[in-house]
Amino acid sequence: MSNIKENLNYIRNNIKKSTEKSSRKENDVMLLAVTKTVDVDAIQEVIDNGITNVGENKPQELARKYDVLGDKVNWHLIGSLQTNKVKYIIDKVYMIHSLDREVLCEEIQKRAEKINRTINCLVQVNISKEESKHGLDKEDVLSFIENVSKKYKNIRIRGLMTMAPFTEDEKTVRSVFKGLKDLSINIEQKNIPNVSMEYLSMGMSNDYEIAIEEGSTIVRVGTSIFGERNYNK
Ligand SMILES: *Cc1c(COP(=O)(O)O)cnc(C)c1O
Repeated sequence: MSNIKENLNYIRNNIKKSTEKSSRKENDVMLLAVTKTVDVDAIQEVIDNGITNVGENKPQELARKYDVLGDKVNWHLIGSLQTNKVKYIIDKVYMIHSLDREVLCEEIQKRAEKINRTINCLVQVNISKEESKHGLDKEDVLSFIENVSKKYKNIRIRGLMTMAPFTEDEKTVRSVFKGLKDLSINIEQKNIPNVSMEYLSMGMSNDYEIAIEEGSTIVRVGTSIFGERNYNK
């Protein structure tokens, strides 16, 4: 017996409460179901329960599942992306959350131009400055985005993404999310052509409520929907 439907109801209720607590609208927050290691039957089940956006962190896994489910749902690539894997997803992906270096921009541009698509991207930022985290340092984000805006016509930057550190300390987590929000406000004010800051992708199973209170518009939730992941399947 699967609890997917109950889990979704529970999370949606929490999202509603967090938006109310921070005087935001429930519809401002997208619940992105993180489906890595989850099989297509379970993905179909969340789609049947109203999920319209799913996230994968491995390009080939995304491609394999896309072949079955297609455009029934919007596919997000949320994990760090190697340039040689861009080809697997360029014609399938709705948004890439992990734009973090110029060689990746070059590859996306080249492939997107060939098939005449514009790719929605979020810039991944390493707010917490953890060694293990991917993403640009906060200080480098503005110049990176200005450069992308000038040089890569088939890349459309629509916001920022970050991951909070693995810690129980709510204050630290909150300050990371606030840091991303502040940065997005700063960038928005520059009115950079072809760039918007409408999306802030932050918050996962264990911290999405804090993220919403700090301004998240996309929460990426896996475990709380599908249960613990089994990587050996
Ligand atoms: C796996 C993953 C998530 C979801 O994590 P849960 O703790 O299972 O909710 C979110 N974002 C990224 C980038 C991930 O790789």
